[in-house]
Amino acid sequence: MKQHDKGGGNGAQAESRGEPQGHGEQASEGAGKLYVVATPIGNLADISARALALLAQADLIAAEDTRNTAHLLAHHGIRAKLVALHEHNEMQRAAELVARMAAGETIALVSDAGTPAISDPGALLVARARAAGIAVCPIPGANAAIAALSAAGLAAPHFLFYGFLPVKPAARRAALEQLRELPYALVFYEAPHRVIECVAALTAVLGGAREIVIARELTKLFETIHLCTLDQAEAWLAADANRQRGEFVLIVSGARAEAQEGLPAEAERVLRLLLAQLPLKQAAALAAAISGARRNELYARALALRNAGEFAGKAPDNG
Ligand code: SAM
Repeated sequence: MKQHDKGGGNGAQAESRGEPQGHGEQASEGAGKLYVVATPIGNLADISARALALLAQADLIAAEDTRNTAHLLAHHGIRAKLVALHEHNEMQRAAELVARMAAGETIALVSDAGTPAISDPGALLVARARAAGIAVCPIPGANAAIAALSAAGLAAPHFLFYGFLPVKPAARRAALEQLRELPYALVFYEAPHRVIECVAALTAVLGGAREIVIARELTKLFETIHLCTLDQAEAWLAADANRQRGEFVLIVSGARAEAQEGLPAEAERVLRLLLAQLPLKQAAALAAAISGARRNELYARALALRNAGEFAGKAPDNG
């Protein structure tokens, strides 16, 4: 560390609460430390005071792209020494950085956005540092998946973070087939130029009745969070080219959320009665109000009934 510090300025406070200082049980004496520092996913203000203090004090910052990190540091008035650590040089760089930490240096690891090692480089350096007995301390902060989940409004107690699906259609389909029966919300990252084909694959394998939250450009100017069913998602994206731009998190409700068997009998009865008279969305909303069952579940069930050919001739749905 450039100046003595026990974790970004709050070490004394933590110590007084009897909390560990992040030294790690097997940390080598005299060794430096590795701080894994989360940085913003868009809005440059989304970084903690502790992270900024550590970035200013570290002997070296290992960054996925030194230009990006230099921009962040300049925004916060921090001058620091940077070295590149990315997927193409992580192996050789890790050895070099571990040697420096073993000699007493403190290194901060950052990626281009969000939390390092989460769909980003860094895991190898962390593993090598831990294996060498260097203390590794996380400095938590932004993460696109968690930000999207926090604002998605899906009543899902459990989720599975998948990250990027395979790019090739056959491999993507195989990966999705393994996820199809899981009763957890599924969280994916996707690139803008693949978002439509990804949504088409999700619909084909998981079925159109599940809900999807399309979380785009989080914390940025054109932040958009859209909830619909999978069979509506492709049309929603295609309706405006801007909806396909930027960075995406896609969250799909879990297998059980379709609730085709789990709907209480009375809710099912009311839904069927209303579907015989009303458009799908209205029928689901009214059935929810009457039965007390969840509107999303009723809507998914109504869609499934319609897709199965029941109530096909009723009034068109405009939602
Ligand atoms: N380490 C990062 C994290 O903690 O979230 C993720 C890095 S990964 C290489 C980049 C992907 O994360 C993007 O392609 C996108 O899927 C997602 N992502 C990153 N920033 C985002 C944002 N502001 N809004 C939506 N998705 C974002």
